[in-house]
Amino acid sequence: MTTTLITGANKGLGRETARQLVAAGHTVYIGSRDAGRGRLAAEELGARTVVLDVTDDASVEAAARAIEADGGLDVLINNAGVEGRGAENEVVGAADVTADMMRRTFETNVFGTVRVTHAFLPLLRRSAAPVVVNLSSGLASLARVTDPGTPTHAYPGVAYPASKTAVNMITVQYAKAFPDIRINAVEPGYTKTDLNGNTGVQTVEQGAAIIVRMALLGPDGPTGGFFSAEGPLPW
Ligand code: NAP
Repeated sequence: MTTTLITGANKGLGRETARQLVAAGHTVYIGSRDAGRGRLAAEELGARTVVLDVTDDASVEAAARAIEADGGLDVLINNAGVEGRGAENEVVGAADVTADMMRRTFETNVFGTVRVTHAFLPLLRRSAAPVVVNLSSGLASLARVTDPGTPTHAYPGVAYPASKTAVNMITVQYAKAFPDIRINAVEPGYTKTDLNGNTGVQTVEQGAAIIVRMALLGPDGPTGGFFSAEGPLPW
């Protein structure tokens, strides 16, 4: 039996990833900061649920204790994320970004990823085939953001891409430190979810494909990489 936790899985890509992993036979925990929405999603998908706010130490530690008491964890998907748009849902560029906006975005996307990974590492290290999937973004790629004429180059936001570049670095450093765990960063592609005001061009089924593929890696799979559905991405 493979047990998987997906943070922020009450909707969007996390929820669809949960659906596909339940179908693949995993015992899936829907991490949700709201108990009611987590319970509803879990009931609909045949999954379990755990209350988990990635910005809150006590919440993350309680979730780790609960999953440990239930038997442990094999796969962690750090999916919870925010784009950190402005008051009118606009992408905030260099002229307007503030330290507070950066801090809020990093609190979820970066510190949340470390907080959750740190809390669940002892459980993962007891698994026979541990896997971590970190939700990154194509916007994390310094190679792409500096390549004129591409949609990635045209994206003006500062906080979100910077936070996902940090997620990539975290992925590489954890992968080197824990060679027995498959730890990879993934770019799901521009997907229609609440994160981007439903402006994405892919369905959640398409976006979740690479997340699911990396969650199903065996011990011989790659680690310390950055992948989209098309293959490895440039850092
Ligand atoms: P979404 O539909 O907005 O879902 C985001 C999820 O994260 C929600 O369940 C949300 O919970 C949760 N979340 C936010 N803050 C949290 C916190 N502090 N604690 C726990 N959960 C929290 O967005 P999505 O598009 O599915 O995004 C999922 C991941 O994919 C994100 O990491 C995002 O950066 C990444 N990604 C998305 C795209 C895209 O085009 N959509 C592209 C590249 C990467 P609430 O419902 O409680 O807010």
